[in-house]
Amino acid sequence: MLVCNTLKSLREARAELSGTIALVPTMGYLHEGHLSLVRLASEKADHVIVSIFVNPIQFNNQDDLAKYPRDLDRDIELLEQCGTKVALVFAPTLFDMYPPGFQTSVEVSGLNSVLEGIHRPGHFKGVTTVVTLLLNMVQPHYAVFGEKDFQQLRVIEQMVSDLRMSVEIVRAPLMREKDGLAMSSRNVNLAPEAREASLKLSAALNDALSLYRTGERMVSELKRVVEERLAEDPLIQLEYIEVADGVSLESIVSAKENDRLLLAAMVGGVRLIDNIALHIERDF
Ligand code: AMP
Repeated sequence: MLVCNTLKSLREARAELSGTIALVPTMGYLHEGHLSLVRLASEKADHVIVSIFVNPIQFNNQDDLAKYPRDLDRDIELLEQCGTKVALVFAPTLFDMYPPGFQTSVEVSGLNSVLEGIHRPGHFKGVTTVVTLLLNMVQPHYAVFGEKDFQQLRVIEQMVSDLRMSVEIVRAPLMREKDGLAMSSRNVNLAPEAREASLKLSAALNDALSLYRTGERMVSELKRVVEERLAEDPLIQLEYIEVADGVSLESIVSAKENDRLLLAAMVGGVRLIDNIALHIERDF
């Protein structure tokens, strides 16, 4: 497995790879959720390229950026254990991604103006710009994104479709810890009491799903269950809970199959997001 820190070395190594390539873009501090994307990528393509880059332009909060966990050596070790298909890790410098004078951005309107788009202004513009750069640099046949960041996934699918980019976006399911917490690099920043409190996020979504499965379709009721459960805990400040159409992400009044319940909350000072599909049969 090669580690490339510059665009030049990436291009040279990429030129040596024959067959199909799947890219897994990440911000590092890898966990099982990321590794599940790498495994899915390995099933799809002959070679996997993992990018690790903490993208400053998608952080709307400088404190969040400063606190974002990083450990490239550990990430490389985890990827080395992940199988021979991981051909290279692309861990570019800030200079390689945004050289002096850089002045272009890519932005999807509509999908980026709801949910996270309201609470993290500029976030998706940063995401779509860096993903466009990475796709142009790596030229993969596939790029894998997790349903953990469901809105991000939809924004990227829209961008790739609108700009006729010749890459297939592959969806990977959301991976959870055994106790239900959605895996996230940020979880390491949770103090023990906040880690305990964070379990309520997935539990609350599960409550709403159970209610949906008993026949409740009123979004106001589904949201109320989540709001009430989370209001019990002083460590949790809910930012939003929405039921949105699974494609357009527009808010709805009466829930239907494959709509998404999405939430964001501060838990002991750490911002967490989670989501589930409303589905009669699927187990949580
Ligand atoms: P990040 O490093 O947080 O930018 O995430 C990189 C990729 O991994 C994104 O496509 C995420 O959606 C995905 N990802 C992060 N956490 C999980 C998870 N718990 N389950 C599935 N995918 C995940």
